[in-house]
Amino acid sequence: MLPLEARVWPLTAALATDGQLVVGGNFAKDLAHTYGTPLFVVDEADVRARIHQCAQAFTFPDLECSVHYASKAFASADVFRWVIEGGLGIDVASGGELALALAAGVPADRIVLHGNNKSSVELETAINAGVSAIVVDSFDEIMRLQQIVRHQNNVIDVLVRLTLGVEAHTHEFISTAHEDQKFGLSVLTGAAEQAAVAVMGIPGLRLRGFHSHIGSQIFEATGFEAAAERALAFIAYMHQRHDFVTEELDLGGGLGIAYVPTDDPLPIPVMAQALHDIVIRESARHGIKVPKLSVEPGRAIIGPSTVTLYEVGTIKPIELDGGEQRVYVSVDGGMSDNIRTALYDAQYTARVASRDTIGAPMLSRVVGKHCESGDIVVRDIDLPSDIAPGDLLAVAATGAYHRSMASNYNMVLRPAVVSVLNGTSRVLIRRETEADLFALDEGLTR
Ligand SMILES: *Cc1c(COP(=O)(O)O)cnc(C)c1O
Repeated sequence: MLPLEARVWPLTAALATDGQLVVGGNFAKDLAHTYGTPLFVVDEADVRARIHQCAQAFTFPDLECSVHYASKAFASADVFRWVIEGGLGIDVASGGELALALAAGVPADRIVLHGNNKSSVELETAINAGVSAIVVDSFDEIMRLQQIVRHQNNVIDVLVRLTLGVEAHTHEFISTAHEDQKFGLSVLTGAAEQAAVAVMGIPGLRLRGFHSHIGSQIFEATGFEAAAERALAFIAYMHQRHDFVTEELDLGGGLGIAYVPTDDPLPIPVMAQALHDIVIRESARHGIKVPKLSVEPGRAIIGPSTVTLYEVGTIKPIELDGGEQRVYVSVDGGMSDNIRTALYDAQYTARVASRDTIGAPMLSRVVGKHCESGDIVVRDIDLPSDIAPGDLLAVAATGAYHRSMASNYNMVLRPAVVSVLNGTSRVLIRRETEADLFALDEGLTR
């Protein structure tokens, strides 16, 4: 077996002597034959290793930490159980994610509820379940909470979501004064302070601390450091002005992963150390009690574990201006199972997974089967010139925001998600059937 680019492919991915991709001891052709394509293949060892790595990285003798998996990246009962077994908690951002976590047996006190527009029903459900905390995002929400806890005896912990004027993505972070976005309460305008004071004034709510989430696919610590600096200055102000001792500072998610070999995110232990250092340093500088540090990685836990297996269909060479040629390689899925290319212009690594290829690299574009010219899976990639209909194509790093953002566009059935481990495989989420689609169409029963 030949190893594959470790940064991009799952932990146990390798190439067999016949050129086949093997993940978790399962051959790509066997998986495609058993479960059909498109297929999400999750390397369980990879996910568990990342959960373990996160738990370890955020363990310090002088700083209490907690790590929550952001379930919007990919939600399934089995993955939730791996997360809990690995000692992490779970973030949910909707009634559906909360219901799934509870149904999967996640202890409520390991769940944190997020969202900029939680309904009263969602809030009430979370409170009745006994979630660890609710991250409050608006004054309207505080009013809703007030209404609910009025009729309750138990006290619910709250974090106030701050906007700190820091926005981060990959190698850059931007500092702004005002944030023109729907999330959070501004520290600068005083809204965050007002919200904190409002929460403190409501019996039945207990202000535990503050939350910030600065972006996604972040490769460097600088953005987190800027956010932590501002958050801790605000925490010091809250102490001085309101005698409020902050117990917890949640710096959110956004830790980046490699989609292509040139992506080079900071390893999680290095990121963890940087966050630790800044929280310790800034707390000392302000002379405040060091708050517990929380983080909420989603992508960094599940993203690299998964490959999508597609079957190649139509192959169409297109003449470009200047005489060059681009080969459009169509696969049996597309924007319904990977919206990230269309949405974010995301880049991916892909390879033929069913055999050895011998053809020279040719400029290619992997496209889906949807009626939309923006239905692109991999915009620019060199694929071997002997790629042919019937080949399996594997796209790497599709664990986060792929199945969870999947749609039924064109009445396409959403793919199965299968976990692989030591030569065994197991369905996490089964493939949709036409019966699943028809079940919602009341016109079919009239
Ligand atoms: C999306 C989100 C996360 C997870 O982001 P990743 O980029 O997947 O790590 C964590 N916290 C909040 C509040 C989020 O909105």
